[in-house]
Amino acid sequence: MSEVARTNEFQVPGTMKAWVLGGPEELKLVEKPVPEPGKAEVLVRIDAIAVCATDIEIMRNGLPAIVEGGPPFNKNFTIGHEYMGTIVKLGPSVDEFQIGDRIAVEIHAGCGRCPRCREGMYTSCLNYGYPSKGHRANGFTTDGGFAEYAVNNVNTMVHVPDEMSDEEATLIVTAGTAMYGLDVMGGLVAGEGVVVTGPGPIGLMGVAVAKALGASPVILTGTRDRRLEMGHRLGADAVVNVRNEDAVVAVKRITKGKGVQYVLECSGAPNALNESAQMVNRGGRICLAAFPADPVPVDLAYLVRNNIYVFGIRGEGKSATHRAAAFMAQKRFDAKIIHTHTFPLAEVPTAIKYARERIEDAIKVVVKMRAN
Ligand SMILES: [Zn+2]
Ligand SMILES: [Zn+2]
Repeated sequence: MSEVARTNEFQVPGTMKAWVLGGPEELKLVEKPVPEPGKAEVLVRIDAIAVCATDIEIMRNGLPAIVEGGPPFNKNFTIGHEYMGTIVKLGPSVDEFQIGDRIAVEIHAGCGRCPRCREGMYTSCLNYGYPSKGHRANGFTTDGGFAEYAVNNVNTMVHVPDEMSDEEATLIVTAGTAMYGLDVMGGLVAGEGVVVTGPGPIGLMGVAVAKALGASPVILTGTRDRRLEMGHRLGADAVVNVRNEDAVVAVKRITKGKGVQYVLECSGAPNALNESAQMVNRGGRICLAAFPADPVPVDLAYLVRNNIYVFGIRGEGKSATHRAAAFMAQKRFDAKIIHTHTFPLAEVPTAIKYARERIEDAIKVVVKMRAN
């Protein structure tokens, strides 16, 4: 970032373009007031935002978004949470960032006063959905990023290096989520085997982060060869197309019968937990970062008899986003590999359609606000 840009006075208009949720599946482009940053907050001019599968879920079902204690529909609510941008205004007391700083966001600003927030588990804040108590989750409970501006707490931002593109910076929070999954399992993966099941964005970033942390071997399972190939480029030592080979048999083959210490489950397949249990060795750890829509039978006796630990994660707690951003700044992996398509702000519905229907094998679809 040049000195010129840092000292530039950003002209902040009174109103902005923003996409808001009408009824289910209904997005409208409206003009609404530019929000005002409060204490410990800044105003971010959004430069780019990635479409997430959760945006699509919110449009369809409302949940996991909760606005004013209820469904997010017809409340002038803006979705979108995987964004980056430029700080254009500082709220009272902010000295952690300057006007002109490029930042990427994590989603959750916890209330900071509940026991979970005090433990660093702010994505599981006990005051979730109560902005009056200080909680914010942009795109879930407070306005998100399919708009020209958003307000962010200083706790939810990480600096973006000058040489990192806007598109790549939108992927920091995805890598942060994968990092958090490895964190909750203990995070001591150097020299230990990790299986990642499901090569969606979090799974692919899971491969990259596990490899950067020194895991060995890193094994990726999935059904699409093109995505498995991306996994290879992101550091997977072995990939398994489960259409061609049983995933458990393959993991046993690759690990010479030993199994792995960790599974990061990102497929949401109905039998994924049972299969993951067969992939880990005794005392192994499984983190569920995806889930099937309906309840599924689980062989609990196998989990208990083998002392297998099962964790679930919500989002990107314990500042995992900062650690993921550090890896990306150090070029430990090339997250850009998973960015496949770009659209302008006026074409958000098309961007979402590409992500939802995986048109042209879309993985991460990014909306970029301006051409430069
Ligand atoms: Zn997301
Ligand atoms: Zn809290």
